[in-house]
Amino acid sequence: MNYHILKKDELDGFIKKLSGKMKVVAPVARGAGNFAFQEVSGASEIALKYIPTILPPKKYFMPQRETMLEFDISGAKPSDTAVVDAGETAVFGVHTCDLAGIQCLNMVFSERPRDYNYLRRKDKILLIGLECGDYCDEYASCALVNSHMPSGGYDLFFTDLGDRFIIHVHTQKAEELVEEMGLAKAVPADMTALEKVRAHKRSVFKKEVNVDPRKLPAIFAAGADSKVWKDVGARCVSCGNCTNVCPSCYCFDMADTMNLDLKTGVRTRTWDSCQLEPFAQVAGGENFRKERSERQRHRYFRKFKYSVDKFYRFFCTGCGRCTRTCMADISLKETLTSLVKENV
Ligand code: SF4
Ligand code: SF4
Repeated sequence: MNYHILKKDELDGFIKKLSGKMKVVAPVARGAGNFAFQEVSGASEIALKYIPTILPPKKYFMPQRETMLEFDISGAKPSDTAVVDAGETAVFGVHTCDLAGIQCLNMVFSERPRDYNYLRRKDKILLIGLECGDYCDEYASCALVNSHMPSGGYDLFFTDLGDRFIIHVHTQKAEELVEEMGLAKAVPADMTALEKVRAHKRSVFKKEVNVDPRKLPAIFAAGADSKVWKDVGARCVSCGNCTNVCPSCYCFDMADTMNLDLKTGVRTRTWDSCQLEPFAQVAGGENFRKERSERQRHRYFRKFKYSVDKFYRFFCTGCGRCTRTCMADISLKETLTSLVKENV
């Protein structure tokens, strides 16, 4: 057990020292109840209590748009150079649902062929979790998928104990940082206080959908032709917001763009969405998910069925962003509840 203590009034010094070593990003209030991860230089800028940010911190691991390659086709020997734009960054204040999202992405991008752009960027990130003591809002379904409790995926993990944070030190680089910062070791009274926080959470967080989550993959398998998909498909406007804000969605598009000299250019990748009509269009003009209902079904299957078949875990982390952002009021909890009712 490697736990240390940081007094609340020492947080500013901690962030400032960290900023001297690398870029520090954290959740910041953006008005109208919204929050976003952005660069900070002191603790006063950070929202220690926040609901899930507009975009999850995956944007630091996999930017919305990134250059992968620069090429030059002039001359007899065309050439290209790989580009990895990765700088040392501390991502502070990540809730457990978003840590779970990053764990999902790590699994996907570590598969062969490994995605070196993602992995090099990940290696340069110091991930600092922050425990949420209560529900963010009514859209969250983190207890259903068990992402409300910490289960690794971070370097350091902060839990608020009132006048101080107790910090779980989880990796070698975190240990070195804690030693350098001179943080005191936790004592038994701190561990008792931490257990109190966890006991409170166990009493507050309850499965948000009335189903044994272990049954969900089978319920999805039985519900492939459910009318639920037609219902949500009839309401969905295919904006793609739900997938863009999802911490575990990772689909992207690649494009080569020539410069005006028609000799040099760049290859970029940009986030894509399975909810957009052309996403599943292939050569010859065929589209194997032309209907919105098919695309909606696909989105849910990617979270609760296919990911379990392939990676043995749900790829929904229960953050609630898709419901919070949907302009058609499509609710993940309501969709799951309807599907469960049909198939149990
Ligand atoms: S956010 Fe809502 S309307 Fe937009 S694609 Fe997703 S489900 Fe459809
Ligand atoms: S599907 Fe919705 S609730 Fe689940 S992780 Fe993605 S955005 Fe969050």
